[in-house]
Amino acid sequence: MSSSPPKLVLCVIDAMAPAMLERAIAAGAAPVLERLVGGGRYVSDCVAAFPSVTPVCAASIVTGTSQDEHEIPGMNWFHREEHRYVEYGSSFRAAQRFGIARQLTDTVYNMNRAHLSQRTPTVFETLDDADVRTAGTTYLMYRGRHLHEPQRDTALTRVASALMRHPVMGPRELFYADIFASQRTGCRSGLGMPGMRDRHSGCVSAYMVEHDLFDFLLLSLPDNDWYSHKRGPDGQVHSIGQADLQLARVMNAAGGVEEFLAEHAVIAMADHSQAPVTATIALQDELAELGVLGPVRSSEGASDAEPRIAVCPSQRAAMVYALHESERDAMRASVVTRALAIDGVDLVLWLERDAHDAPREGVIASPRHGELRFAPDGPVIDPRGLSWSVEGALAAIDGRIEDGRLLSPAYPDALARAWTALTCRTSGEVLLSAAPGFEFVDWGRQAHVGGGSHGSLHASDSLGALVLHGVALPEPQPAQWAIRDVAPLVLRHFGLDPSR
Ligand SMILES: [Zn+2]
Repeated sequence: MSSSPPKLVLCVIDAMAPAMLERAIAAGAAPVLERLVGGGRYVSDCVAAFPSVTPVCAASIVTGTSQDEHEIPGMNWFHREEHRYVEYGSSFRAAQRFGIARQLTDTVYNMNRAHLSQRTPTVFETLDDADVRTAGTTYLMYRGRHLHEPQRDTALTRVASALMRHPVMGPRELFYADIFASQRTGCRSGLGMPGMRDRHSGCVSAYMVEHDLFDFLLLSLPDNDWYSHKRGPDGQVHSIGQADLQLARVMNAAGGVEEFLAEHAVIAMADHSQAPVTATIALQDELAELGVLGPVRSSEGASDAEPRIAVCPSQRAAMVYALHESERDAMRASVVTRALAIDGVDLVLWLERDAHDAPREGVIASPRHGELRFAPDGPVIDPRGLSWSVEGALAAIDGRIEDGRLLSPAYPDALARAWTALTCRTSGEVLLSAAPGFEFVDWGRQAHVGGGSHGSLHASDSLGALVLHGVALPEPQPAQWAIRDVAPLVLRHFGLDPSR
């Protein structure tokens, strides 16, 4: 593969688990992905962000940074300046608790416009600045340099038009549910309902291929995640097959798979994986006596006590915020003590600060194994080449040090992911990672028992599939690939310097 095809499609198949991709291929259910794996580079352990949930990971994928830079800290988080929860849609019931209008506004508008840091350009913005023809299907992250007015001509959008009346800045071609559509394609998203979304992405992408409308396309296929939440990770064999059908549809618009690959490099990737869920943790209840702020003022579910903390479940991860700066450290200690005693909590993480309030060291505490303390720069090298000082219970991350090298395969890229989560300006004071099998119930009291979920620091949620076809590989290749490696690959493909 000496010369790369001119165009590039970045296909995000939400939650695509490597073992399930391999099973789908073995079963003959994913011929296009099989072709990409066979002719390209397959990475079966590309590590997600922590929390390994879609908003955090999507921001990492499009910016090539972690949340210490991009500032999207979770599926649900507490906005300190606005003194309110931000909910991106953990479930319909959770959205109802915060108000559907509020949730949609946060997800469709504020996430890109206000929450995603302006200091971290997206691949769309950087490519738009270089006059590359960009395009995107419905994806959480779409921020680009081109203005798009909401559609007003479909029955479905008329329903939502009271809410979705503002323009956005997106890629050159933007198709976002039925709200934004830069071309009249005839494709319908069915209001972006789960199970319908892959078909909409496939439909508009096939249209764009037919009409030669992009050099870079972010093709989002989110239904695999929804299906896997419902049926459990094993169900992905079916939904990866469905995603493959949409890839085939897009490629057929160019005359077939081989014709398409002659013109397009393809990156097909998961944002995170999924693990089975058998039990729940109601963190809101467990911490009630500390005084938990409810979803909206004086709503049910809030503690009787005066609110002193905000509790933010993000599937198999959670964050807790101290509401009052003056009692931040004392409150953190109270939350940590209680959290370590909750059945199903695997790890409790927090940051120790120095006298100037600067981050001094991170702590990863395990109820069974004790505390691991760590900070950047030191004698230990992780698999991505970063150096750390570490002290205490390496068993907390099932880790060991061999010849100065830190190995923690059960918690991949543990220190960098924990550090960037802890030092993120918008993260909580205490972060939690659930034990295998457990999920935190969201504010609508929903979880995925009997199905699958993700969010934790553990390998089971964190290691997704990454397939690179026709893309120039970096030299040397990372010993541990991460989703934040993808944006630089995209920029380099178009001759841009990722370090800008
Ligand atoms: Zn999910």
